[in-house]
Amino acid sequence: MSSASRMPAATANGSGRDEREVFDERRCRTIVVIEHPSIPAKPCTKCELVKPLDDFWRMRRHRTGYDSWCKACRRAARIEWEARPGVQARRREYMKAYRSRSDVKDRQRVVAADRYAKQRSDPEYVEWWNARARRYKLKARLGLTEAELTNLMQSQRGRCAICRAPFTKAPNIDHDHKSNVLRGLLCNPCNTGIGLLGHSVPTLRAAIRYLQRAALNRELPTP
Ligand SMILES: [Zn+2]
Ligand SMILES: [Zn+2]
Repeated sequence: MSSASRMPAATANGSGRDEREVFDERRCRTIVVIEHPSIPAKPCTKCELVKPLDDFWRMRRHRTGYDSWCKACRRAARIEWEARPGVQARRREYMKAYRSRSDVKDRQRVVAADRYAKQRSDPEYVEWWNARARRYKLKARLGLTEAELTNLMQSQRGRCAICRAPFTKAPNIDHDHKSNVLRGLLCNPCNTGIGLLGHSVPTLRAAIRYLQRAALNRELPTP
């Protein structure tokens, strides 16, 4: 073997090209990468303007290591292509078929499980996730943001809207079950109490009358 053939490709082919074999992780195989560091600018074969290499997408196996069209020409061509009838519909169809392939599904499951394991082991992420879940639950199930809840809490001075006892635990967010309109914040006993009496004003009035009558008849102190 002559010494020339062992020389790097850059000098061997005399064109200033630097060919290297690298392992492409995404494609899971070795590819030849072409660098062209000696050329700071080149013409676009579409618009024929000489532009700096930054204006071309990297195409590692291309003759120059860069796309032959400049980024602006690529973008224009893409926009034109996207506007053609049926292009987007065809892609939707293709992606639907792609996603339903069993090997793709398997791969996505592995990626998702990996990501999930990573996230679960990160306490900061778990905390963020739990806080988000709290916000979503508040908003979705109770139609309330955290700020609205804080305001309501302040307007009730941190006390139950019925018995006026200060909250020691998280308050119950009481809604009218038919209209879903927010009524107020209640302690556990009051929330359960009006619930057991069917949230019914006549029933609750009757309960008051009953207690008063019983107190009068037995000369008990009025509750
Ligand atoms: Zn161009
Ligand atoms: Zn109460």
